[in-house]
Amino acid sequence: MAYKISDDCISCGACAEGCPVGAISEGDGKYVIDEGACIDCGACEGTCPVGAPSAQ
Ligand code: SF4
Ligand code: SF4
Repeated sequence: MAYKISDDCISCGACAEGCPVGAISEGDGKYVIDEGACIDCGACEGTCPVGAPSAQ
């Protein structure tokens, strides 16, 4: 399992700064999570202002 970022992302970058393993980077039109690096901590879900990250 890993977290994923939906199209609701407004590319604010807050989640990338808070990710403890650096799994989040800027993608094409939204931020993306490296599923292999994500440790399912849930921090991104708590930081995002629009609720874009969720457990998949
Ligand atoms: Fe990073 Fe945690 Fe979000 Fe995974 S759940 S992308 S480890 S902040
Ligand atoms: Fe996108 Fe939310 Fe991350 Fe900001 S915190 S870059 S809106 S997923």
